[in-house]
Amino acid sequence: MTTDRTTAEGAELQRALDELRRREEEIERLNHELEETNRGVLALYSELEGQAEELRRASELKSSFLSNVSHELRSPLASIINLSRLLLDYDGTVFGDDQRRQAQYISKSAQALFDIVNDLLDLAKIEAGKSDVRAGPVNVAELLGTLRGVFRPLLATDAVVLAIDPAPADLVLMTDEGKLSQVLRNFLSNAVKYTERGEIRLRATPLDGDRVELSVTDTGIGIAPENLERIFEEFVQLEGPLQARVKGTGLGLALTRQLARLLGGTVTVQSAPGRGSTFAVIVPRVWTAEASATAEAARA
Ligand code: ADP
Repeated sequence: MTTDRTTAEGAELQRALDELRRREEEIERLNHELEETNRGVLALYSELEGQAEELRRASELKSSFLSNVSHELRSPLASIINLSRLLLDYDGTVFGDDQRRQAQYISKSAQALFDIVNDLLDLAKIEAGKSDVRAGPVNVAELLGTLRGVFRPLLATDAVVLAIDPAPADLVLMTDEGKLSQVLRNFLSNAVKYTERGEIRLRATPLDGDRVELSVTDTGIGIAPENLERIFEEFVQLEGPLQARVKGTGLGLALTRQLARLLGGTVTVQSAPGRGSTFAVIVPRVWTAEASATAEAARA
């Protein structure tokens, strides 16, 4: 009996020992695997570090390239614009009709190129994180009034009217007026370009949560649902008979979205083909650096 029990206990012990050894081996194998994974992670980490360094260098290069290009392109363009204006203002008899038209063509083309260069530079500046927000008090009613003054003369036809809903006189934001105005000017110039008759309406609506919506509604050609997201991509221009006639770069809305993000806001669009569109920017009443960071983080 005793011998039987001893044998059984011995066998049990042996099994336990075998199991222990098996687990030890398993642990050793896992440790080995872990070490390999660790080595892999370290290798990946240093590769990522290298790539991050390269990106930093590329971004620095891009910034210095930009400031050079900005000078190299803008200065001669400004000269062409100013000189062609001088030519056009010159009230002599030197110019025939043809030459006058050609000088007008030079002036218009140079201005168009100047606008593209400016949009590109603004976009690149924001992307390089070099565009600062300068927040100050902005009286919304006054801002809308100024925009009316700028855009009324640009309506080429009486078939389109520019209407402004009066904003509350005491609606004052703490934000970057230049950037907010640039967003609204982009909406308005698109509305003017893509509306042949009806109305363009600019309005400001205070929203919950200390935010304000500024919107431009037009009764123009509208945008098909499948294009509503694409139009915010750089260089995207939709095709159609009216689009072919108007000038554009496809940069306006991409820049607008970036500017809105800098202001801690978002851009929305609602549209129906043939019926018109509403483009809106929603910004916090009071700009904070954290709001910009949140808007940036929410970037799709
Ligand atoms: P563009 O310089 O061509 O106007 P944007 O980036 O401002 O560039 O706009 C991109 C495209 O979105 C335009 O080419 C146009 O097809 C469409 N779009 C923008 N605003 C409107 C609008 N108010 N009504 C109809 N289409 C619009």
